[in-house]
Amino acid sequence: MKKSLSFLPVFMLLVFPFILPAISQADASPTLVDYIFCNGNIITIDESNPVIQAIAIKDGNIVGLGSTETILQNFATENDTTYDLDGRTIMPGIVDGHSHYMASLFWIGETETIYDSQNIALASGYTTLNEKSVDHGELAWFQSAEQNGTLRLRVNAFLIYNFAWLENNETVLVGGWEGKVDQPVLDPSRKLRIPGFKIYLDGASGNRGFPAMSDPYTQEMIDLWGIINPYGDLYFNQSELNSVVDSYHDKGFSIAVHAMGDRATETILNAIEYALNGTDNDNARHQIEHNSFIREDQITKALTLNTIHSVRGYFPTYWQQDYADLYGPVWMERTVNRYSLPGEGLHSYLETDFGFLYGYDEDDWSRSTNIRPFLHMWGLVTRKAVDENGTIHSLDPWLAEHQITVEQALRMMTIEGAYAVKQEDYIGSLEVGKYADLIVIDDDPLTMNPDNLKDINVLLTMIDGKIEFLWSSHTFPTPYTNGTSRTSSVLWISLFTLFTSMTVIQRRRKKK
Ligand SMILES: [Zn+2]
Repeated sequence: MKKSLSFLPVFMLLVFPFILPAISQADASPTLVDYIFCNGNIITIDESNPVIQAIAIKDGNIVGLGSTETILQNFATENDTTYDLDGRTIMPGIVDGHSHYMASLFWIGETETIYDSQNIALASGYTTLNEKSVDHGELAWFQSAEQNGTLRLRVNAFLIYNFAWLENNETVLVGGWEGKVDQPVLDPSRKLRIPGFKIYLDGASGNRGFPAMSDPYTQEMIDLWGIINPYGDLYFNQSELNSVVDSYHDKGFSIAVHAMGDRATETILNAIEYALNGTDNDNARHQIEHNSFIREDQITKALTLNTIHSVRGYFPTYWQQDYADLYGPVWMERTVNRYSLPGEGLHSYLETDFGFLYGYDEDDWSRSTNIRPFLHMWGLVTRKAVDENGTIHSLDPWLAEHQITVEQALRMMTIEGAYAVKQEDYIGSLEVGKYADLIVIDDDPLTMNPDNLKDINVLLTMIDGKIEFLWSSHTFPTPYTNGTSRTSSVLWISLFTLFTSMTVIQRRRKKK
């Protein structure tokens, strides 16, 4: 009697852990959801819960996150929609903070349907596009697509205040928005939102005029580019811009301003300061595009104002020697400064500036406006570049100090793009209650060799809990062995353990 009692703890130790889950599974019926992805590497972009294994999705929302075991215990799906990630990575869908993708579809007069023409963006892993300059025709097109259910991506339209080019050396206002869009559209459940207006403040090249600088262009640059105004072209003076930004600010719109030259950056920082009038930009979310020649003192001012800045992900950095020869050391320092913005602690988001205007070529990775988000991530992290022949150009020493981590790049491509349109509580990270906007990718950016980041493929894109893209030639996804057989395998292990422990008991009895 005494001896046989001493065997009980051994029996309990071996069998108890296996019996418990089997019993709790049978008793508590798990919540039925639309999708479960388990056995994965899920990068949440939520600092309190950075990497987990499994996620459950119901009615477009994330309803569970945790270990594979917990999620399988608490949730179940029908129709084989519990997928085994087999170690693959999930991350939030990519938010392009400065895109012209949707607008370019309108302008190239896509012969496919609106529905199909979004496929390139979906296959690239984008779930949200912040469209930086939407005119009346484009807005009407987006609105009808939203109404008839063919808008598949989330679009944040920044309406165009003035055109991107000059006529007779003057900017041209678009007009006609009053009475049509008098307040922002921020409803997080809408596929089409209107957070603000886009203002072109200075030039770029050609008929747009040139970036507005505080120092004159050299004679060499003037001759080379046909520059008319030696200080570049500022589309609005300070008091004009103050009044425009202030009036939109008062109506609750965010302002996104194209500012390349440091004189333009100066003017918009002053105008934002004027409109904020001592309040924090955390409410207004005014943002500055390109920042191509931003000065040190302007970065200091931006930090004080808490402004938001776009940063080009991939850039052909092998052009920089030409820039250095042309710009000289002072301007060169300013053009390098733009890469420092994410590391300075400023809110900054990925800008791909993607559109079809310059021709979309899937095979030419050299374009700075390339649509591929992981090429941009590679650019942000390694600062290397690839030319049209496919040659990889290694890092120039002057850029080395502005390399950022994969974690920073991930944030710029997700939560920071969401923050810029006041949607960070709904998208941009994987958290319970947020929309199920996510992608499955074929490598882990956090652990892989950063040199290969550009080659990451997107296997699946989900928006609002709907699979909008699936790489059809790939074996992913494979349904996870469903709950019934899992329960029976747990029971089988329990029975096996029970049998072996019984054997142990029998043997010990014999010894006696
Ligand atoms: Zn742009």
